[in-house]
Amino acid sequence: MACDGSRVRPQIAHRDLNVFKALQSSPTDADSQRNSQREPARFGTFGHLTVLALRAGEGCVSSAISTVARAESAQRMSEIAPVVERSTLGLHTLEQYEPLIGAAVTERIAKKADRVRTQHVVHVSSTFNGGGVSEILTPLTLMMNAIGIETGWRMIQGTPGFFSCTKKIHNALQGEKVSFSDAEKSVYEEVVAENALRLHLDECDAVIVHDPQPLPLIRHFADRDMPWLWQCHIDLSSPDRAAWDYARGFVEDYDLAIFSLPEYSDGVGIERRFVMPAIDPFSAKNSELSDDEIDACLTYYSIPTDRPLVVQVSRFDRWKDPIGVIEAFRKAREQVDCTLVLVGNGATDDPEGDVILETIQSSIDEHVIVVKVDDAVLVNALQRRAAVVLQKSIREGFGLTVTEAMWKGAAVIGGNVGGIRRQIQDGENGFLVGSIDEAANRMVQLLRNPALRERLGSRAKESVRERFLMSRLLEDWVDLLAISEGRGRA
Ligand code: UDP
Repeated sequence: MACDGSRVRPQIAHRDLNVFKALQSSPTDADSQRNSQREPARFGTFGHLTVLALRAGEGCVSSAISTVARAESAQRMSEIAPVVERSTLGLHTLEQYEPLIGAAVTERIAKKADRVRTQHVVHVSSTFNGGGVSEILTPLTLMMNAIGIETGWRMIQGTPGFFSCTKKIHNALQGEKVSFSDAEKSVYEEVVAENALRLHLDECDAVIVHDPQPLPLIRHFADRDMPWLWQCHIDLSSPDRAAWDYARGFVEDYDLAIFSLPEYSDGVGIERRFVMPAIDPFSAKNSELSDDEIDACLTYYSIPTDRPLVVQVSRFDRWKDPIGVIEAFRKAREQVDCTLVLVGNGATDDPEGDVILETIQSSIDEHVIVVKVDDAVLVNALQRRAAVVLQKSIREGFGLTVTEAMWKGAAVIGGNVGGIRRQIQDGENGFLVGSIDEAANRMVQLLRNPALRERLGSRAKESVRERFLMSRLLEDWVDLLAISEGRGRA
């Protein structure tokens, strides 16, 4: 049975557990009505695939916030502060990082920022929702503004034809053999040209373009007198040559190219810099959750906790190897009883998710739960409760899901590729694996040894604190803006 028709289509919904709880504690009539609908629905059983999602009528975060805003007393407002915290975009200042990174570091960053405080910069990407780029830009752009750099974030719009083309480019750059017709290249370039017409980027001091989707924009700003930077977030370690040559034609019009790792930048004929992503430790996805909150969230989604959980969180994408995850899990389960939970959301610029979801349905069994929903608190709860977190990618530009799980002290098994191997030191703060058998063996080892999980997890958390918090990324951007100042072409 296909999972893309009207019969069964998992709905993507935003939900915040604490907003949900706050609403329950002071229900209005409308709220009561909505709450009565807030049972998770099993959206279908495809063979052995169980997809959980939310019913239509699920209250959305914005309606929840307006209810919160009606709260009358100051005391009530202070009680609901965490609710608001977890339901907004997450504006955090550098000072809030002080307990995590120390005053000397925050002061150093603030001092460096003095050099670029007068700048007005604009980031351009292809989605506000889903995937690592939006996950990074949400806190980063807010923090840049909070420190005094006037920072905007613009999105380019696309058509289904455009996004199927850009997904092909993405896949080709990650190593798949793909051929592009001239018609596809025309769609790609034309849609970017249409977007260029209304972007009006002439007044800023730097433009930062993310990933291949908006890459050709630069061709439409030939008279620019500010630096244009291209930041690539994908794994370019072994790209399809023809596709990379095509993309590089655009890249080399930029003033600077930024990659997550040096090995992604072979043969690029312009100045390059290397910046690894980072996470926001205060976001709904990464902040502390109590055991009760975790229990409530997992119960809400009918995720059983009677057996140890093995969890992978990622878009339904071939490079995340969901089929390999299921095979490894099956092998591990021959030795240790456990439940696998695969959680994935969609990204508006990624049209392949449903196809991959369909592929999974024929190859899993009843111990595998697949949840297609966009819920940061669920990701948080699962990463905290999991006995083992997997990220068995076969290509991975960086892998924020690895960072997020490590920050929670989880024992993580990651594919030995790209950015994952920059985060996990094998045997030190997690395990790296290169095959299904290795993944299965490590799963069994970890499931049988809670002390080992604890040891790896606590080192994992410390390594994220040292290297992968948003404050470090802010500092990298302050440095980048300082070195690129005045580099435009005019
Ligand atoms: N993500 C999420 N819900 C999901 C799947 C992914 O919120 O169901 C988030 C995940 O927590 C991470 C981002 O999407 O913050 C994915 O970034 P990553 O670098 O791991 O992979 P990408 O999707 O960019 O390839």
